[in-house]
Amino acid sequence: MHLTLLGTGTPSPSLRRRSSGALLGVAGETIVLDHGGGAFDRLVESGTDPAAVTHLLISHLHSDHTLDLARLVLQRWDQSDGGLSPLTIIGPAPLARICTALFGEGGAFELDIRVRCEHPASLAFYAARGGVPPRGPPQWTVEEVIAGARIKIGSVAVRVGAAQHMEPILECLCYCFEANGTAFVYSGDTGYSKDFIAFAKGCDVLLAMCQYLDGTPVPQLARATAASHLEVARMAAAAGTRTLVLTHLSEQFDDPLVRARAHKEMADIFSGTIVWGEDLMRLSLHGSMAEGRFR
Ligand SMILES: [Zn+2]
Repeated sequence: MHLTLLGTGTPSPSLRRRSSGALLGVAGETIVLDHGGGAFDRLVESGTDPAAVTHLLISHLHSDHTLDLARLVLQRWDQSDGGLSPLTIIGPAPLARICTALFGEGGAFELDIRVRCEHPASLAFYAARGGVPPRGPPQWTVEEVIAGARIKIGSVAVRVGAAQHMEPILECLCYCFEANGTAFVYSGDTGYSKDFIAFAKGCDVLLAMCQYLDGTPVPQLARATAASHLEVARMAAAAGTRTLVLTHLSEQFDDPLVRARAHKEMADIFSGTIVWGEDLMRLSLHGSMAEGRFR
């Protein structure tokens, strides 16, 4: 299992940290987790051919997790020669309605798709790169999931859990991937949550939101929706994970002194390995499921 971080930032515009995104390579599948603004650029920078992406999993429908969905669908299709495999998009409702509103009949990109399929100039370019007209629109399927679902991506078992974030307007999900003796959990966006701890119990690697330095003045109503550095550490410790990878990091953590202080405070709570995520960081994930540790 290999993880590449595509975006470790927040909704705030940042050249250092793009909005949420990660790339998981496992058992022959190329899976993108969330695709906020700029994550598509990081995907290309990582050396990954967008056409190789088989699945896109969305944790929730905040724009900093979805803005580059359209780029992934359209840019992987535009340069294809017709031999492109369909993309499966998985996430909470109303994802199907959103994708139809983007790519379907009457959708935002209907004319773009139509002109690339019908205009003689576009078809000439299509033929020049090996395509054989007529050309069809991008192929995508949506699988809407809810917390508690269990799905399979090839041979990879995926459990879907509930994050604690922006309910009830947004359904917010977390995912656990189990393959080759490794259990990897992606938190999506979550505040401190006992349900999430139970979901992540015993996982080998946890990729989790670390939104702000504990003690930062945050409106009381927001406290439950996004985790501070101490809350992430407490959740990782309670879940018994071995490695904690931090993402969704606000700029305050890029101050070396703040980072050093936060790291020490987290290490006092969580005894496993703490990794401060950066865009394009690559990690090999190794598990202990073979030892019967994961439940
Ligand atoms: Zn969010």
